[in-house]
Amino acid sequence: MDTACTLHIGFDDTDSPKGMCTTFLAYKIVDYLKKQDSEFLDFPKLIRFNPNIPWKTRGNGAVSLKIKTKNPSKIKNKIKNFVSKYSDTENGANPGLVFYEHKTIPSNFTEFSELALWQLINRNQAKKFALENNLEIFYKGNGQGLVGAIGAIGYRFNDHTLELLSYRKSSKFGKERKISAKSVQTMQQKTFPYTFNSFDNKKSKVLITPHGPDPVFYGVRGEKVDSLLNAIKILETKEKLAGHMIFKSNQGTNDHLKNTLTKTTLKPYASGIVTGLVSSDPKMEKGGHVFFSINCNGDEIQCAIYKQTGISSIALGLIKGDKICVGGGIRKASKTHPRILNLEFIDIVDLKKNMVKSNQICKTCNKSMKSKGQNQGYQCVKCGKTSKSKTNLEIPRKIQKQLYIPNVSAHRHLSRPLTRLGKINRKSKFDESVSWFSVYENR
Ligand SMILES: [Zn+2]
Repeated sequence: MDTACTLHIGFDDTDSPKGMCTTFLAYKIVDYLKKQDSEFLDFPKLIRFNPNIPWKTRGNGAVSLKIKTKNPSKIKNKIKNFVSKYSDTENGANPGLVFYEHKTIPSNFTEFSELALWQLINRNQAKKFALENNLEIFYKGNGQGLVGAIGAIGYRFNDHTLELLSYRKSSKFGKERKISAKSVQTMQQKTFPYTFNSFDNKKSKVLITPHGPDPVFYGVRGEKVDSLLNAIKILETKEKLAGHMIFKSNQGTNDHLKNTLTKTTLKPYASGIVTGLVSSDPKMEKGGHVFFSINCNGDEIQCAIYKQTGISSIALGLIKGDKICVGGGIRKASKTHPRILNLEFIDIVDLKKNMVKSNQICKTCNKSMKSKGQNQGYQCVKCGKTSKSKTNLEIPRKIQKQLYIPNVSAHRHLSRPLTRLGKINRKSKFDESVSWFSVYENR
């Protein structure tokens, strides 16, 4: 009799800015599970949650695995040890680990997951959820990682991308990553549009290598397994890498910007979209950041767009009355600023005619008339022709009715890149026989 059970494993918040990486822990766990005759039922999931949570500095990514095993208790114990060993609790990680033994995932898991995409979910809510749903949990620190751990198990894909993450040998951790920029550029060209955000052509900048001390060497994002495997054959690195793993992810899907923020949900750290009319003239402040407000059904919402996005000049071209749809995260009010929506895109729905009052032009001389003094009308200095009032002049707009998104270098993990506009990927069928996981040998 086959007594194998389906086991869902979720974990999060094992890393800190100083080291480790939740995906590397996943790689280690998968390596172990592969040797235990576990059957993988899907790709490892790398789910990015609300990027506007203040204590999440590194992309707020959680991982879940779905396997079939005949020995769940042994595996659970071993994974607990992995989480303890590979979590950077000394530097502020608050790891959470969740096990759920069932073939299917109930819909309340998915609801929990969807909320974590755009709201601030308290760790106590996660603990309560675990208790009510008989989840086996394990955590260290304050247990904030339980939110992502449950969320990653409950996540249901509507659209997805893949990311192939390669890992360094431990002797190289913390050392500079050397990769041929030319090879990255070539890879991007050859695999377009099935990979994305690998190279910033404008800035000649490699985007696939992180800069921190974590074990990742590079991450190639794309749509299909074979495109990713082809891509890494083109890349030229100075060091020999330890292996790779392909994750199925919500990166590049704008997943956090599905909800319309309303008066009740416009809370600090929430992510979402609002549509409204520009209600104050945009102002550029020091540093090149642009601030303005929009009116959404009577509520004034302050907006900010940072210089690094490369679209602050677009915001500067807005005038009162323009209808726009914007998305981003709510920043908490500070002493110097009110609550602000930090924009991640600007979609211009309608542009108002920019009419200004201007002195009449003398039709005979084609010269601008001059004021004769307060309430005394205007006169052409050349021929003496007069006019009682100013005229309306339409100034051409410099921006267009279209979607403006940040520079590729300023993209967040969840930002939908231009190459993915209007695209929905539902295909990536999981196939155990392809090289979604690989430990490189004899290299
Ligand atoms: Zn004249």
